[in-house]
Amino acid sequence: MEFKKVVVGPLQSNVYIISSKGEGVIIDAGAEADKILPFTEGISIKYILLTHNHFDHTDALGELKNKLRVKCGIHSLDKTTSLFDFEFSDKEKFNFGEAFLEVIHTPGHTPGGCCFLIPKVIQEPPLLISGDTIFQCGYGRTDLGGSEVELFKSIKNIMSMSPDIQVYPGHGPSTTIGEEQKFYSSM
Ligand SMILES: [Zn+2]
Repeated sequence: MEFKKVVVGPLQSNVYIISSKGEGVIIDAGAEADKILPFTEGISIKYILLTHNHFDHTDALGELKNKLRVKCGIHSLDKTTSLFDFEFSDKEKFNFGEAFLEVIHTPGHTPGGCCFLIPKVIQEPPLLISGDTIFQCGYGRTDLGGSEVELFKSIKNIMSMSPDIQVYPGHGPSTTIGEEQKFYSSM
């Protein structure tokens, strides 16, 4: 499995391109399609999957969809425009090459916010794309249509996962569940 991170736009949003055997997915589409596209060369992109519906994760979507001729999915509770082609829900799996990722619905930052888990059978250590739910020593804001109560429920759910899981947030550097468990226990 191959994993690439591209940082785009004024809010330094992370875009992830994950592939296996020449087939891949793009997670989020913040900005600067021209900067993202070279990282997809040689990969047949099956889907663009969005962690949530905020402009700093969606602004390059139209251009990426046009250039790559690919469909885009988002959780049903964040699906507000026809630019999003299909809806997904909690525990849904998406295959690419010999790998897959699983949707974990983590409402709070937005109602349809999601993380994507690539489990241990595929990736050692497992890998979690966390969107704006969890950052390194931080979490997403809830004043843009979110809910703090929901967010903390979602974070508690994620924090019950294995400490060795590598976490890749929607902004900033990567971390691990173990590091974040320390952060949350000190709060
Ligand atoms: Zn956001």
